Amino acid sequence: MYTGKYYPGSRQELLQKVAQQVSSKRFKHICGVEKAALKLAQLNNCDLQKASVAALVHDYAKERSDQEFIEIIKAKQLDPDLLNWNNNIWHGVVGATIISEELGITDAEILSAVQKHTVGSANMSTLEQILYVADYIEENRDFPGVAKARKIAETNLAQAVVFETKQTMLHLVTTDKTIYPAAILTYNAWVARKKVYDGK
Ligand code: GDP
Ligand code: FE
Ligand code: FE
Repeated sequence: MYTGKYYPGSRQELLQKVAQQVSSKRFKHICGVEKAALKLAQLNNCDLQKASVAALVHDYAKERSDQEFIEIIKAKQLDPDLLNWNNNIWHGVVGATIISEELGITDAEILSAVQKHTVGSANMSTLEQILYVADYIEENRDFPGVAKARKIAETNLAQAVVFETKQTMLHLVTTDKTIYPAAILTYNAWVARKKVYDGK
């Protein structure tokens, strides 16, 4: 819908640049995330242009090679623990650097939302919550629990973050996957501690 002041060129140009970077299937997912993010932004009084740009660029780096991520982590002297992870983690956490350099996006909130879109964090701004949830519930997603996630997101964004974080954690544990440390911090803050605050 918009790009406004958060991308230096036109919307059409941004769409083209993103489409050049990813498969058509992933581009469709990205368009679905933008649609979901705009809806959530309207419901939660968030800047629509920011939500739009954050959604359009969130998986921009997803199809880069492992070698490229490894080189960036080393060259920029990012946390060396990142080298123990893979594309699932890198495309957001390191992808934000690629987005800022290649697309000229400088807005700190957009870059931070991209950085956190896969694993979240203990403290998340409204924009960060919107991207995290929109990525999970967009219309092309099809997995057990997605309908429930969509329903929760319609009424309570923070509760949707809680639900998604718990589901993702359950999925990772059930399939014997490693849990990225930041994802554990997200779980502790949003799922475990929230229960304490709620008195449950
Ligand atoms: P996508 O880029 O639109 O496919 O979605 P995401 O960026 O949310 O997630 C990418 C992948 O990372 C998914 O397959 C998640 O299951 C996976 N993922 C999320 N958190 C973790 C984690 O803590 N550890 C590992 N190993 N994978 C994770
Ligand atoms: Fe992603
Ligand atoms: Fe995505």
